[in-house]
Amino acid sequence: MNTLLISSFFLFGIIVGSFLNVVGLRLPIKQSFVHGRSECPHCTHPLKWYDLIPLISYIIQRQKCRYCHKNIAPLYPIVELSTGLLFAFSVRAIGLETELMTALLLIALLMIILVSDLTYMIIPNRLLLFFFPLFILMRLINPLTPWWSSIAGALGAMILLALIILISKGGMGAGDMKLFGVIGIVLGFKQTLLAFFLSTIIGALIGIILLMTEVIGRKQQIPFGPYIVIGTLLTYFFGENLANWYFELLI
Ligand SMILES: [Zn+2]
Repeated sequence: MNTLLISSFFLFGIIVGSFLNVVGLRLPIKQSFVHGRSECPHCTHPLKWYDLIPLISYIIQRQKCRYCHKNIAPLYPIVELSTGLLFAFSVRAIGLETELMTALLLIALLMIILVSDLTYMIIPNRLLLFFFPLFILMRLINPLTPWWSSIAGALGAMILLALIILISKGGMGAGDMKLFGVIGIVLGFKQTLLAFFLSTIIGALIGIILLMTEVIGRKQQIPFGPYIVIGTLLTYFFGENLANWYFELLI
């Protein structure tokens, strides 16, 4: 595959990623992300265009605000870089097919959720309502086999999550349930279950590590959204292989 194409998707992803940061930060608190100037979250000094170059500004300014010298959260450059890498990986794995659009939309949704769930512990309804019809449209263009796997995935995941929320009383929220409903359309029934399984395992592992290293306290709530992000991306790109590998282990 063309190196130029892959690198342009990488750059495109980094730029999109910086917009996704803004959406993730402003949508949950109902600020406009189209209008309104960017400002430092600490000193609210308005930021100039050269403070806002994705990744580059962060590196040049040594992770600090130019005006108040407070640290800039590493989450923003991480989201920019991840979006760039994932966009590049998508075009390499899928090629210039219509399914590429589904992949880019899925990555965009998940990156926004990463920012908003880590910052506010919110998965905004408006965000899910925006992406839901887009994914339905993409699955009408590129149906799964069988086509109704999308519907089964969305319903199955929401019922499963609803049961878990009822039984566990906490840990997972209504936002996570609705998110899985949207993801189910893209992944279909089997893969949505795999994504859920992976999210839970990864969540448990990281949770144990965070507790053991005392990064978080025993009673502290941790958002589940980031694990769903990781589990979903792994499943979307490697689901087939992961499922085969898992079944081979069983046999
Ligand atoms: Zn500042």
